[in-house]
Amino acid sequence: MNRPLPPELHPDTLAVRAGTERTQFREHGEAMYLTSSFVFDSAAQAAACFSGEEEGYVYARFSNPTVTAMQNRLAALEGGEACIATASGMSAILSLAMATMQAGDHVVASNGLFGATQQLFGGILSKFGIATSFVPATELDAWRAAVTPRTRLFFTETPSNPLTEVIDIAGVAAIARAAGVIFAVDNCFCTPALQRPLELGADVVVHSATKYLDGQGRVLGGAVVGSKAITDEVFKFLRTAGPTLSPFNAWVILKGLETLRIRMEAQSASALELARWLEAQPGVARVYYPGLESHPQHVLAMRQQKSGGAIVSFDVKGGREAAWKVVDATRLISITANLGDTKSTITHPATTTHGRISAEARATAGIGDGLLRIAVGLEDVDDLKADLARGLAG
Ligand SMILES: *Cc1c(COP(=O)(O)O)cnc(C)c1O
Repeated sequence: MNRPLPPELHPDTLAVRAGTERTQFREHGEAMYLTSSFVFDSAAQAAACFSGEEEGYVYARFSNPTVTAMQNRLAALEGGEACIATASGMSAILSLAMATMQAGDHVVASNGLFGATQQLFGGILSKFGIATSFVPATELDAWRAAVTPRTRLFFTETPSNPLTEVIDIAGVAAIARAAGVIFAVDNCFCTPALQRPLELGADVVVHSATKYLDGQGRVLGGAVVGSKAITDEVFKFLRTAGPTLSPFNAWVILKGLETLRIRMEAQSASALELARWLEAQPGVARVYYPGLESHPQHVLAMRQQKSGGAIVSFDVKGGREAAWKVVDATRLISITANLGDTKSTITHPATTTHGRISAEARATAGIGDGLLRIAVGLEDVDDLKADLARGLAG
């Protein structure tokens, strides 16, 4: 029933087989355990499970079999020793920070991070005495120069949002190793289907499972994947502080992982085609997509990623007015800041995701008023082109 898996399976096999533990009912699909607690046969067993002397589930804030199945499957796909699932992507990043640092410690992070991640490091953690230096992440010297004796963590995201800058994972990993610093990569945009940061030397991968891992816009979730030494510390924080993944969400993500590779490949192929088409439109000033030869880190991207991914950004000629016109002319592509769905989405970063930062800060970051970001889904790419052409044409 629970025959041990053969060793050295390929990722496609792990995506559908890893983590499955059948019950006495011999169910084929993975069971969902909607229970907040677990019972014991005796007072002695309860005591042994609570103390950790005996392995066994105790309470769903700590863990739940459905969550364990999802953790084991994602760990297998990332090539990590262990995985701790969390309630959201942000709680994965918070849990990693809480588990690895204390007041007085220092973080070096990319300057092109997801907005909430930037606020977590630059705002919330600074209140508790953890300082962060944000560096231009494509420049390896900037990482090296920012290290202090109190630096504990390097944190990056590649490709970055929304400009799809590609950061050299192996290069930053070498600097982190030399400095004795933990190196974490947010692998949300590529997922293990396209990029495996741990193989490139990163110590930890964090995920917003809300995006491509679920892939169908249904649930929130997050994960920290890495060595057991690190994930054990993350688990200690999680079981006490409680940003735990619900078993229902874990089950949805577990099933999402089964189709991850084919979704990522199809969405990436459409993104490349759309990026090439956008580059040829007279109303478009510039396209940001790592799969294009015109992308500044194209060679690095093709070495580090299996493809360019499914996020395409572009500058429309004519600033905010022209960009809004493209958004408002769509009838198919969803107008929403979310990404990673089978349904394509479009967003105007300057007035939504990056609307709360000053115009100067946006200009420094290269986020112009004409910039649009598309997360390409599974629709026919010709329908997507037609949807964009409507607003670009006039
Ligand atoms: C969405 C996102 C997050 C945060 O994830 P939530 O699940 O929304 O908490 C973190 N990093 C990146 C790159 C994201 O896109």
